[in-house]
Amino acid sequence: MYKKQFKAESKRLLDMMINSIYTNKEIFLRELISNASDAEDKLYFKTLQDGISGLSRSDFVIWLEPDKEAGTLTIRDNGIGMTKDELDKNLGTIAKSGSRLFKEEFQDDGTASEEATEEATEDTGDSPADDEDAPKKDKDIDIIGQFGVGFYSAFMVAKKVVVKSKAYGSDEAYEWTSEGADGYTLSPCVKDDHGTEITLYMKDDNGDEEYSQYLETYMLSSLVKKYSDYIRYPIKMMVTEQKPKEDANVEEGKEPELEEITEEKTLNTMAPIWKKQRREVKDEEYNEFYKENFYDYTDPCWIIRSSTEGVATYTALLFIPGRAPINYYSKSYEKGLRLYASGVLIMDNCKDLLPDYFSFVRGLVDSEDLNLNISREMLQQDSQLKVIESHLEKRIKSELLKMLRTQRDTYEKFWGEFGTQIKFGVYSDYGMHKDLLQDLLIYRSSKEGKYTTLDEYVDRMAPDQKYIYYGCGSSPESIAKLPQAERVLEKGYEIFYLTDEVDEFSIKTLQTYGEKEFRSITDDDLGLETEEDKENLKKADEENKDLFDLMKEDLGDKVVAVKASSRLKSYPVCFSTEGPISIEMEKVFMTQQDPSNRVHAQKVLEVNTEHPMFSKLRQLYIADDKETIKTYTKLLYGQAELIEGLPLEDPIEFSNDICELMK
Ligand code: ADP
Repeated sequence: MYKKQFKAESKRLLDMMINSIYTNKEIFLRELISNASDAEDKLYFKTLQDGISGLSRSDFVIWLEPDKEAGTLTIRDNGIGMTKDELDKNLGTIAKSGSRLFKEEFQDDGTASEEATEEATEDTGDSPADDEDAPKKDKDIDIIGQFGVGFYSAFMVAKKVVVKSKAYGSDEAYEWTSEGADGYTLSPCVKDDHGTEITLYMKDDNGDEEYSQYLETYMLSSLVKKYSDYIRYPIKMMVTEQKPKEDANVEEGKEPELEEITEEKTLNTMAPIWKKQRREVKDEEYNEFYKENFYDYTDPCWIIRSSTEGVATYTALLFIPGRAPINYYSKSYEKGLRLYASGVLIMDNCKDLLPDYFSFVRGLVDSEDLNLNISREMLQQDSQLKVIESHLEKRIKSELLKMLRTQRDTYEKFWGEFGTQIKFGVYSDYGMHKDLLQDLLIYRSSKEGKYTTLDEYVDRMAPDQKYIYYGCGSSPESIAKLPQAERVLEKGYEIFYLTDEVDEFSIKTLQTYGEKEFRSITDDDLGLETEEDKENLKKADEENKDLFDLMKEDLGDKVVAVKASSRLKSYPVCFSTEGPISIEMEKVFMTQQDPSNRVHAQKVLEVNTEHPMFSKLRQLYIADDKETIKTYTKLLYGQAELIEGLPLEDPIEFSNDICELMK
């Protein structure tokens, strides 16, 4: 027997493990079970490769043996085992590259490990032998939370760890023992079968942490379910349960007699639902899986299963919920997918796998390319996850398009729940994702009030129609009634009815669809006029110039101009706007911006010179009754505000003015 020091870099990691006040100590079990499963995989493949017969997959088992009296938990496998050399190498060092990457990661962050010594030792129950290089607390919590940390995590819960191992095909077994940071011993031991047996001598309970809970069978069962349910080998444990006596005659109204039965139980399910082919699984089974795992009580409206090999090898099982979670449009909602590495849960909510505009998608990704091993993880966090993310993004989009094409009702319902998020996606990041998302957009339109895609709209456009028209308002009905809609509809052109606050922002981000430009029906140029119309309009403006100037003067800077209108037919007056801000956008700003520096639309008061009201104005002008013109102008302005759904600036004055007229 001899005693050895850990290699410097391993020591650092070990210190971190031991002293981390990391709350998620329970993952030690996941790590040890994953190692056991890997060791069994290795032996299985070795027998295949070497043509050794006599061992099949079903021979491999992982056993858990809690012993409350001794205060130990043993994890045993019949995998490939380790030679003396391997015990020394594998458990005495952590791959160099791994620890270097680890260090770089800290230093990138500006938290040089030396500086963080104090923080790392604060608050921890067990004081380390030597924590010179202990990394910063918050940061290590982060890393442990995201990645597998392997064998060393045993020291988060154990004061002493004994590993007995016998390599497959060898006659000798060795025992590796360590009580933490100050080293380990290695000596021969007796062990009958190949494989590895790891015994953890649990730390004593203290006020902060109850280590003895990891000796309870119910706790171990639930940890296996949580993290290791899809390990392909059975994880077995002796479990004692209270059961009704079998031969007891149960009298009515009486509790059956109970007896304690101890039996070996397999704790894990083994075959994950996402590994099965789509056609092998009924929709109901998927639905149940979804509801159980993602805390929803409504069935998902769409299921996506994807299995890919090549640049990235992974299986994804994704769900589009049937209903938006209550907190979906708030900050408390967290997007993300569950991430497994070969069936082992490594992260509950991996945000990097979903772009914001598809944040409603729930589900999981299981990849063989990811490993619990830190060194590999760190690299893959960048490259591998990104590849998977971009695959998933394309796949989600194509599935949504498929839903749109084949199940329009479902899509429209989906749109009601999550459409706003996609519209935000078009608008966000300066329109970077508009090409990806534009075909997913649907809006109601004047065509029977139904939802229409941009493509369908353009398909229906009349040959002489220049623009894609849209109007904004609180409901399709109110937009259809806008004075500005009248002429466009009369021409037989379709209008998109935009009722969501974000709509106009996203349309303005799009600017065009294909060759066609979007135009608001309140825009001052609608491209509707014939040459003759334009001529008439010019004439009307010239003839009434003095009157319009007077009206503009009365209104001050509330408007940029008063003009004759070509778009009004039966209505007396309306607003149009110049510049990039529309009236609908002004309404949104009203709810968001601070009143002192609020942005306003540049409004033009358009007057219908064909309307009987206008001849009255002209009469007043000829009679030089400036006072009455002033009152009428205010009233016309107020009407335009009301039509647009804007609040009247002075409702009392408006009301008094009307009463004055009624007298
Ligand atoms: P890894 O992420 O590589 O599994 P660990 O620190 O968990 O890192 O383990 C280090 C190495 O020790 C493993 O790569 C493996 O070679 C060996 N090892 C750990 N547990 C076992 C086991 N139960 N059986 C055989 N080898 C093991």
